[in-house]
Amino acid sequence: MYPSFELSRLSQFCPSVPKTPPQHLSSKRRRGANCLSWLPILVFLICSPIPKDAFAQTPVRILQADERYKVDILLVVAHPDDEGAATPYLARAIDEGKRVAVAYGTRGSSGANEAGPEQATALGDIREIEARRANAVLGIDKVWFLGGKDTASQDVLQSLANWDHGMALENLVRIVRLTRPEVILTFLPGTFIGEDHGDHQASGVLATEAFDLAGDPTAFPEQVAAPLRRLEPYLESLRPWQTKKIYYFPDADKEEIFRDKGPKYSVKEISKSAKQAYWRIALESFRRHETQAKGFIDTLANMDEAQIEKMVTSDSFWSSGISFVLGKSLVGGSVTGDVFEGITPGPIPFARPEATPTPALPEVSIELAGPWSYYSDFRRAHGLMQLPHPEPPEIAQQAGGTFVIPLWLRNPTAESREFTLSVNLPAGWTLQMSSLKFLVGAKQMGTVRLEVNLPALGDPAPKNPEPQEISVRAESNGQTIGNVKIRVALRKKALPE
Ligand SMILES: [Zn+2]
Repeated sequence: MYPSFELSRLSQFCPSVPKTPPQHLSSKRRRGANCLSWLPILVFLICSPIPKDAFAQTPVRILQADERYKVDILLVVAHPDDEGAATPYLARAIDEGKRVAVAYGTRGSSGANEAGPEQATALGDIREIEARRANAVLGIDKVWFLGGKDTASQDVLQSLANWDHGMALENLVRIVRLTRPEVILTFLPGTFIGEDHGDHQASGVLATEAFDLAGDPTAFPEQVAAPLRRLEPYLESLRPWQTKKIYYFPDADKEEIFRDKGPKYSVKEISKSAKQAYWRIALESFRRHETQAKGFIDTLANMDEAQIEKMVTSDSFWSSGISFVLGKSLVGGSVTGDVFEGITPGPIPFARPEATPTPALPEVSIELAGPWSYYSDFRRAHGLMQLPHPEPPEIAQQAGGTFVIPLWLRNPTAESREFTLSVNLPAGWTLQMSSLKFLVGAKQMGTVRLEVNLPALGDPAPKNPEPQEISVRAESNGQTIGNVKIRVALRKKALPE
């Protein structure tokens, strides 16, 4: 049968296919030729060649990344109300036309509720709203939560475990690629005497990892893969994004080691848009956190403006201004220069972090394990060798409690080695362990936990007693192979909530 019916159907989809068979086809048919065998080729040739007017066609517009979600600053913190560590600066930056997004590690579902009976997950539901309202005071509406859970610990490793590290990082890399920040601001990852909340540290670790990964197309590649279907349900069609700078703010009591490591901003200057001091805008924002500070908020409600100013500006946080520590800049600029110094619009190439090689270790060695060895590896891996950290290491501990010192004993030799430890403690501090001899197999590294009973503080307790030093000396084969020191400050209350 002559395929005139098929041709007429094809012509519905391909306007250049004639609705009637061409004359030469009819003549071939008359000669008995098998036209069906080459018909597909004919259809292809008719449909495929570039039409004469192809260059006059309007190109299909390819959608660009959603500009509504582009920001200049991404703040990465742990809990609702942590944004308060940066809100006076954020108010200034927003005044200067900068766009801001905030990512929280947790929804703050633990701790006391000063505003009502709700606790646990229900409290997290409320605090998520409070955080959004606090940000809305500054005009920030891009607020995300990474899905972590509150962790009552100073140990960043416990927080990372409790946050489901991989999931939280994946979420944060996605937020970086979506918001394409020029700068990331976050808590300083490190262990210090201070509040030193493990969750705060974890937010700084994740922000650093996301800074180094979001520009790498092989990191979470499903996020940057192109869609395969019109309603793509799996691949996200984001683009890799290399943030240009990362700054930290510490969670430590003392500021000496952070001085002049980054820019500093007054909180007392007057906002051009709001016509009030930056601290005042930040305080107005903080007042949204009723479940965390209803007592304080009620006190504010009964004070006049002069009383509020006197109270707030006599606090060191407000009177000394806001300082940041420069982590990394991929666009130059000076250490103490403005956060946006050196930044120009547009993307920059992905920059893999410049890792510092691990130093050669002696034949057998001892070192602090846990967060301390992690952070020295972390600084090397992320090109952060200049990041301030106390030497010797330090930590605040609850008086009357137990302090655990985690240690690595390394034996790279071909034979088992015996390690003998001797521990030097401050007066009144005691060790829980009976034996301090350990055998580490050939080419092995072993972990040891030294548990120290801490004394109670006297009555009345001194406000902030000076830290005291614990030293651990290790011997093997009759020779001293290392000496580990850590300074411990006793506090009435040292466990973060
Ligand atoms: Zn916090």
